[in-house]
Formats: sequence, structure tokens, C-alpha cells
Amino acid sequence: MRAFPILRLLRAASVLLALALLAACAPLPPRNPLATWVPSPNHDIRRPVLIVLHFTDQQSVRQSLETLRTANSGGPVSAHYLIGADGHLYQLVSDQLRAWHAGGGRWGTITDLNSASIGIELDNDGHSPFAQAQIDSLLRLLADLTERLQIPREQIIGHQDLAPARKNDPGPLFPWQRLAAAGFGRWPQGVLVDPPAGFDPWMALAVVGYPLDDRAATVRAFHNHYRGLGGDELDPQDSRILWNLVQQIESGG
Ligand SMILES: [Zn+2]
Repeated sequence: MRAFPILRLLRAASVLLALALLAACAPLPPRNPLATWVPSPNHDIRRPVLIVLHFTDQQSVRQSLETLRTANSGGPVSAHYLIGADGHLYQLVSDQLRAWHAGGGRWGTITDLNSASIGIELDNDGHSPFAQAQIDSLLRLLADLTERLQIPREQIIGHQDLAPARKNDPGPLFPWQRLAAAGFGRWPQGVLVDPPAGFDPWMALAVVGYPLDDRAATVRAFHNHYRGLGGDELDPQDSRILWNLVQQIESGG
């Protein structure tokens, strides 16, 4: 009879341990203590609305897998996906979770880019052309993500586009035109023509999504993305491209 309380204590302890283990795996508590919890079954997961492309600026997939999974010297970083030069696709963070790939920046009205986006790293040293197999694999992934997560196909940008003063990836060698040919990203369509008098290319850059805090840096990002070259001064060809893009956006394309 004397063993009874001890058995009950042990049983209670094991229940508490199980609950603690469950709590360690559970997502954040959904309830706000300010409110009365009246749960509704009519919900699903929040969805990202943007895809951000990066180059790793490293020497190998092995090195990048290490960087993206550890507290590296510059602070912990991650991405949802990493694609090797041979096209092998690695996933490091669930699509439903917030990876740490974008950092500070802005695209249109979006200021918390990590919450709003899927991050894809491409194994590339920042100076070499992107391998064919790697781009083929990226196109398959983009088709999957835009279909499954319902991310608009034009909402695919580079890291430099959202943080022009800080970043330079995926760089001028990234084949945006090839993505556009497959229906991904925003790209000029048809014949480029001069914009009407009074056209403001800065306003157009903002309409496309670019931040204007550092205008020279923004032009460098735009040149890398749309012309595969550097330079930080707008020219007439930039205005033709921007006029074309703005017309697409205004027509809902
Ligand atoms: Zn990046």
C-alpha cells in the first residue's frame, strides 16, 4: 500500500515529461491571452508571395550546406532551397517556415522579405556562368512553387533587387531572359518603344518594386537584372524597358 503514492508520482512525472516533449515540438501557441479563444476550422497556412534568387558566392555545395545550417561567422543564415551546379536540389527549410536569406530590404510595399518569400540559393562563385543543369533544375522548382504555393509567376526577383545597396546577387550573369522565356519573372514583352514625354523612370522603378533609398545602387541592380551589365546612370534604353514593364503592370499582366 505504501508504494501507491510513489507509483502515482512516477506516472504523473511520465505524463509531465511526455507533455514537455510535445511542447518542445509544437508550433508557437496560437492563442493571444488578450482575447477569448473561440477556434474556427476555416483556415490554412499562410503563403509566401515572392521568390528570391541568390548565388552562394562560395566554392562548393558542401561548403554552402555547412554555411546554411550552422551559426557561421557572419551570423546564422539559411534558405529554403539550394541548387548545385549539377542541378541537384536540396531543401533546408520547409516552405511553410521563415528562412533567413533576405535580410533587410524592401520590394514594393513588402518590408519583411523573409516572412513573404521563398529563398533559393544557387551554387555559384559569383563570377562564373550558371550551369545549364542548374537552371533546368531551377525552372522545375519554380514551376512547382508557383503552382503549389500559388505564387504569381512574375514575382521572382534577385536578392540585389530588394537590397541594392547591400547585395549583388544573383549578378549580371544570371539568365533572367531564359527564365522569362519559360514564363517566370517580369521581363519586357514585344517591341521596346520610347516612353511618352514626361515619363519618370524613377517612378517607374518604384512601380516595378525597387527601393529608391540609394538611387545609384538601384540602377546597378536594375542593369544587372535587365541588361546584364553594370553602371549606375539611367539611359534611354532603361526608360524604354521601364515603360514596357510599367505598361504590363498597369494592364494587370
Ligand atoms: Zn543573397
